[in-house]
Amino acid sequence: MTPLLRTSRYLSPKFKKIILQSSLSTVSTTNHGGDSPSRLGPPPIRVDFTVSAGRGVFSTRFISAGELIHTANPVVSHPFLSKCDVVCYLCLRRLKPGHCTEQFCSEECKEQSKAFYELEKKADWFVYHKYCSTHGLKYPLLVKRLACMVIAGAASENCLDILQPAQVLPEIEEEHSLLRTAFEAADTTEESLKFLSNQWYANVLARIRINAFRVEMVSGLYGDLLSSALASVEAESGIGNAVYILPSFYNHDCDPNVNIIWMDNVHARLKALRNIDEGEELRICYIDASMDFDARQNVLLNGFGFKCSCNRCLSKD
Ligand SMILES: [Zn+2]
Ligand SMILES: [Zn+2]
Repeated sequence: MTPLLRTSRYLSPKFKKIILQSSLSTVSTTNHGGDSPSRLGPPPIRVDFTVSAGRGVFSTRFISAGELIHTANPVVSHPFLSKCDVVCYLCLRRLKPGHCTEQFCSEECKEQSKAFYELEKKADWFVYHKYCSTHGLKYPLLVKRLACMVIAGAASENCLDILQPAQVLPEIEEEHSLLRTAFEAADTTEESLKFLSNQWYANVLARIRINAFRVEMVSGLYGDLLSSALASVEAESGIGNAVYILPSFYNHDCDPNVNIIWMDNVHARLKALRNIDEGEELRICYIDASMDFDARQNVLLNGFGFKCSCNRCLSKD
């Protein structure tokens, strides 16, 4: 494959350390939905350079088909506007009917969101949201959420810098000014908005655009990965978007050996789709793998900026 976007960024030792720490902290030690990691401790992966596709994720030992490789929590997430009333505002878990803890599924999510949610609630997002829905934009919602987190001290303004940015960006001046206006109208101090420059907005959006995952819940039994993946595509169960660090280092393949899935909330699971040898590169599919060759090439080029030359594409399948 030749993912042009993922070739240029040098991975400094500092970043490697961050990745390792982030990967360690994402290994789940609890049992969610009958699914548990095969062992505790660091996941059997390393982030390294590929021959032609910049950095990538490699296995450090044999991984069996169906194994949970690691889990990951997002840096930032946001429900689709159409789903705000039915899923948790933080973890995107479906709210039980008659739920009354505001927009959260649990006290835990409410507590974790406290700092930035107060600010989000204080501002009037009508104009910003209207702009997003009129233009069919989902990612500015993540920028808005991240800006609230930064102002509230819940995230660092450069927490996404480690991710690869998109190379071409649309005009963001209007979005940026609408976001600033909303914060200013909510009496946010000039000092706390210092970071929110045009450049910051553009940089963050450039990373979110190619790294955000569309979160879709898998329904049905967990055991059968293929049918789960299929059910997820068929159910149109998208509920929001989220940005992760470690899962973003996986390169793309139209015939992937790893699948990223969501069981009941934004907590992501990366599972082996088949047996993987030690040292093999782990790849996920960024798009709907059921599309034909031309459609896949088109979506990958326009959406992610690279021409896919995975084995499946080479055989024009
Ligand atoms: Zn929740
Ligand atoms: Zn391909």
